[in-house]
Parts: sequence; C-alpha cells; structure tokens
Amino acid sequence: MSDHQPQKMYEGKAKILYSTADPEVLLTYFKDDATAFNAQKKGTISGKGEVNCTIASVLLKWLETKGIPTHFIDQPKPDEMLVKAVTILPVEVVVRNIAAGSLCKQTGLEQGTVLPNPLVEFFLKDDDLGDPLLTRDRLALLNIVTPEQVQELTNYALKINALMQEFFTSCDITLVDFKIEFGTDKNGVILLADEISPDTCRLWDNTITDANARVMDKDRFRKDLGNVEDAYQAVQTRVLDQAKALMA
Ligand code: UDP
Repeated sequence: MSDHQPQKMYEGKAKILYSTADPEVLLTYFKDDATAFNAQKKGTISGKGEVNCTIASVLLKWLETKGIPTHFIDQPKPDEMLVKAVTILPVEVVVRNIAAGSLCKQTGLEQGTVLPNPLVEFFLKDDDLGDPLLTRDRLALLNIVTPEQVQELTNYALKINALMQEFFTSCDITLVDFKIEFGTDKNGVILLADEISPDTCRLWDNTITDANARVMDKDRFRKDLGNVEDAYQAVQTRVLDQAKALMA
C-alpha cells in the first residue's frame, strides 16, 4: 500500500488537481461547479463532474487510438481522471466550424454561418486580461509558444476537429466549435490535455431545428435556456453509445 497523501496541486473553476504517489501522474477531480463570462456568472450543474469526466475520458481515449497523443491514463471513478503530468501551455486553442459566440460578437458574422474551412484561433489563458484573442505576431512577441509549436498545435487542432466531427456526426450532433488545451511532458512532447466536454464545446442536436432547443452544451447555462443537466446527460448517452458501437 502506498502511504502517499494526495496534495491539492491546483484548483480551477471546474476541476481540482491532486498529486499521486507517482510524480508523473496527477488525479483530476471534476466538480459540478459551472462558471461563465470569466466567472462573472456562477452556478452548479448537478452531475456535471461525472458527465464531463466520462465524456472527456471517452473522447481522449478515442483520439489516442487515432494517433493524437493525450494526457489521459484512466478514469478510476466517474468524476476522477488520472492524467500524465504536463506543463500546460498558456494558450486556449479554439476550432470553429460554424460561427457562434465571440466570433459573431467580434466580426458581425451571423450565428449559424457555416465556415468555408475550420478556423483555428489562439487565446491567451489569462483571466485578469479576459483571455484575449492573439494574433500569430502577438504569440511570437509574447514568446509563450514557439512558431514551431504554433504550427504543431494548429495541425493537431485541425486533426482533432476532423476526428471529433466524425465522432459527433455519428451521435447526430453538430460540432459547432470547441476549445482545447495542450501541455508539454518532461521531454517537451506536446500532449492534448484538459477536457473535451459540453463545457468546452458547442454541440447542436441534429434532430431539432429550433435554435435554442437544439443546444446541448454550456450555452444552456450561459443563456439560461434551462434543462442544462438533461442536455449534458443526453450528450453522455450518445457519446457512450457511439463509443460502444465503435468497439463492437
Ligand atoms: N470556450 C471554453 N472556455 C473558455 C472560452 C471558450 O471552453 O474560456 C469554448 C466555448 O465553450 C466554445 C468555444 O470555446 O465552445 C468558443 O468560445 P467563444 O470564443 O465563442 O467564446 P464565448 O462565446 O464562450 O465567450
């Protein structure tokens, strides 16, 4: 038996990171807490921790089988994920297939506009600055990721988008956009980290045409659309069914 006492390494808005007996492995606990608009709006989505941890585990495991290196190791409990310890790169990488959210606010594009090609965007991970959009030149200026890493992250983001679109299409869900984060391991190798869940994706139900009723993601919480828990559960059910079908 290990006598390791887990130490809380970091607590974020939706997750807590704990140490394990192995310094190269961390335990992520997924909380039910929900925040939006840079934590100006706070609440709880009952069961979210388990649902998001389960969806993220399925997707990360599946992406790994498709050649995307990820931090995922195991899901020992519904709301706990064992991950490889990485240094998180301080950028949020957003991929968009359909215009929504900040893209519409900042460009005037109408929500729902299908983009001719997936759009990859980088945002600075800095709550005090409100996670601003970065240009390639600003990325180079800040020197937080090298130009080679920007290219590698872009390539991964596009590949992950293509795979996730394939997966969600099979679930009768449109992948509108999503945010991912990457980290580097002790050898400097880039791994897909953090989570992929209804908190970090925009997901629209293909079986519904109404613009509000079809929303299956955190926009239900952001915009007070109601039935948030049901929507998250429905994503989990479809993702688990699709994972089962893929393994059959
Ligand atoms: N997103 C996220 N965390 C953030 C910001 C955005 O997970 O801190 C996700 C968001 O859920 C959406 C995508 O990234 O799926 C694009 O978000 P957008 O830039 O449109 O910002 P928002 O409208 O959420 O402010």
